Amino acid sequence: MIINIENLNFIYNIGTPFEKKALDDISISIEEGDFVGLIGQTGSGKSTLVQHLNGLIKPTSGKITIDGIDITNPDTKMKEIRKKVGLVFQYPEHQLFEETIYKDIAFGPKNLGLTEEEIELRVREAMELVGLDYETLKDRSPFEISGGQKRRVAIAGVIAMKPKVLILDEPTAGLDPKGRDDILDEIKKLYERENITIILVSHSMEDIARLANSILVMHNGKVIMHDKTREIFKSADLLEDIGLDIPQVTKLMKEFKKRGHQVKEDCLTIEEA
Ligand code: ADP
Repeated sequence: MIINIENLNFIYNIGTPFEKKALDDISISIEEGDFVGLIGQTGSGKSTLVQHLNGLIKPTSGKITIDGIDITNPDTKMKEIRKKVGLVFQYPEHQLFEETIYKDIAFGPKNLGLTEEEIELRVREAMELVGLDYETLKDRSPFEISGGQKRRVAIAGVIAMKPKVLILDEPTAGLDPKGRDDILDEIKKLYERENITIILVSHSMEDIARLANSILVMHNGKVIMHDKTREIFKSADLLEDIGLDIPQVTKLMKEFKKRGHQVKEDCLTIEEA
């Protein structure tokens, strides 16, 4: 088990008239190497939960252990947490700031105290993993490339830290259908090639159905379901009750079958038949 969360509660603006309970007694564990899809309506607590996993937010109460370290212990250093968990925010390209793509991706690894050779190797590998050509792009400005490529640069910057857990918060938001498919394909390849645990936050059941082996469903600050993808799909009625667009999923599955894709036994990862 790579992530263990026990009785996690979080309240925004505690003790003020704006007090808001965002996480309500969450206890879950995630196995190493799993690809978890995190879904739920806007305001259900997804972002608040993932920000706890890389130490950005400290719980009001509860405990989180990642790969053996208690990240909720005040003595645990941020640097240790960052080495374990990489978080790609929504619209991560807004955080690009260096004058070249190389420098942007190298920014995190530099803070790990690696040698220049090690940093270069990591930048190369990360760029390759997200489908960016190192030689042609490394010296270019991150501001003169397309939106989809910018997002890849931002994701590469997190991958270059070699985290054991990679969290992607709505990685396809705002991209056109082609850009979206490309990014999802890169994420799938990354998962297959690296020994990594992925948490993908998305409101798109389609994205989740294509990639995740397990699904976590949040509702009003609680985790109301956590199971293998195929089991969750059996409970489609409940998801529909809380307003997730399940008829779309049923349609999607039919479409996949029609196109001759296979739905694998243990997850819904789509494979050519
Ligand atoms: P999601 O990611 O599922 O959309 P969030 O984690 O962003 O949900 O939000 C959970 C709840 O916490 C919502 O009711 C939201 O309004 C509230 N919330 C989120 N961020 C803040 C904040 N910075 N201050 C106060 N309340 C917040």
